[in-house]
Amino acid sequence: MVASRSARERKAAAEAGPLATVKIDVGADSQFAYKIGCSACVAKCGRGWSTYRPATDNGYMAAMDRWIFHLNEKHLGVDAPRLRARIRSAHA
Ligand SMILES: [Zn+2]
Repeated sequence: MVASRSARERKAAAEAGPLATVKIDVGADSQFAYKIGCSACVAKCGRGWSTYRPATDNGYMAAMDRWIFHLNEKHLGVDAPRLRARIRSAHA
């Protein structure tokens, strides 16, 4: 996991699209966790939206689900085509 941490960050950032800020943090339980934030919301009101999920495959999908929900709710028209395709295939 440690060796692939930055690679996972890059992959998640690429999938989440240009508005997302993706970090893999070490949580309080010393497990890795995805932290996905919204750069547009930070820029607009200084208070960012973010979500935090364990850095597992399930955690990744949960974080991306939350992110897509946020995009749909606040930033309709901002697209993250790779992510939408991934979510569709995950729910298929
Ligand atoms: Zn936002």
